[in-house]
Amino acid sequence: MLALNLSDEQKVLRDMVRDFATKKLKPIASQIDETEMIPKEIISEICEFGLLGAAFPVEYGGSGFGECGYAIIAEEIARVCMSTATFIGAHVSIASNSIYVAGNEEQKLKYLTPLATGEKIGAFALTESQAGSDAFNVLTHAELDENTSEWILNGSKQWISNAPIADIFIVYARTKRGISTFIVEKDTKGFTVGPPEKKLGIRGSQTATLTFEDVRIPKENLLGAEGRGFLTAMKVLDTGRLGLGAACLGACKELLNMSVQYSKERKQFNESISSFQAIQFMLAEMQTLIYQVESIVYRTATLYDEGKMTTRHAAIVKLAASEALDKCADYAMQIYGGAGYSKEYPIERYYRDARINRIFEGTSEIQKIVIAHDLLKKGELK
Ligand SMILES: Cc1cc2nc3c(=O)[nH]c(=O)nc-3n(C[C@H](O)[C@H](O)[C@H](O)COP(=O)(O)OP(=O)(O)OC[C@H]3O[C@@H](n4cnc5c(N)ncnc54)[C@H](O)[C@@H]3O)c2cc1C
Repeated sequence: MLALNLSDEQKVLRDMVRDFATKKLKPIASQIDETEMIPKEIISEICEFGLLGAAFPVEYGGSGFGECGYAIIAEEIARVCMSTATFIGAHVSIASNSIYVAGNEEQKLKYLTPLATGEKIGAFALTESQAGSDAFNVLTHAELDENTSEWILNGSKQWISNAPIADIFIVYARTKRGISTFIVEKDTKGFTVGPPEKKLGIRGSQTATLTFEDVRIPKENLLGAEGRGFLTAMKVLDTGRLGLGAACLGACKELLNMSVQYSKERKQFNESISSFQAIQFMLAEMQTLIYQVESIVYRTATLYDEGKMTTRHAAIVKLAASEALDKCADYAMQIYGGAGYSKEYPIERYYRDARINRIFEGTSEIQKIVIAHDLLKKGELK
């Protein structure tokens, strides 16, 4: 850990999560990857620990640690298992947070509270086959049946994290007034979840397609005002991008720790490979990236908790952290040589898990577009 100004409370949270991650999650991280699922008992322990509600206020079942608290959790969990960090990120930062950001009091009590306590699992459904980077292009649509006061939802979504295990889905769909957001419960008639996708990395984080065929949703499950859904999605994705940056930071740190240790132990030409300048330069670059990413993640999380974070801040964190993780995973693989390429060591898993971070919650190219547009419009960051 670098020189962060964590409060005593935050240090207790970090130590508690680190202890859980090291003792419970780390030993089964490769099993999670191989079996492509997080064991139910681990999910239950995560819920019991209160990790799913740490960011939210106490009145909604959370523990009020805010975004700095969430960043600590994401970092510590991702150090040992990116699949589990992705499960938590999808549940907290984008699914539960949609209700926190746009929900009325009744919706928060009915849906956010069981999500924050982990009684229910959440998923955030925006992406469709023709609406990836072009997220506004969603074709899933909902019409209000005036006779029954129900919304009738039709369409499909793809790449939805947590879908196979979720109870509550935040679904973005087109209505007369634009894009609107709906809370859809798992067992609603006409709603089906496809089988988990086969993926390169974060294999324990299950992802699936959703299909809606005349799904009837009670009027009170419209989240926020009709037509305001795209704004909700963008606001929520800002939070998601910051949390994702914290997760990337945790994985970067673990890759550096492993690389330092291995480079000291591995001998070639009768010397530890850590004595070679070529290896030292890679370690130095990893350390430098980590210091940069740690600084912006916690600075931005503090801005978030003060209500001052902008979309540009979140995009910068996401871009820098995901690119740094890719670089750290690549260097770690190079330092380990053939051993890194083998399943005997966890490096190959980190290498595979790292790659998605430059793609989901907005690709690196999309982050650059967001940063550049905002820079050109508003000038330097205040
Ligand atoms: C494992 C996984 C989990 C996911 N989880 C979720 C989830 O829980 N909920 C959800 O809603 N979505 C989820 N997604 C979807 C994810 O957010 C999208 O995959 C992502 O936004 C990119 O969209 P796309 O895959 O359609 O790529 P595309 O949009 O087709 O992009 C392809 C390439 O074109 C580039 N590109 C596109 N437009 C431009 C442009 N204007 N300028 C320059 N380059 C451009 C992109 O940067 C990229 O390099 C997930 C995806 C994956 C793979």
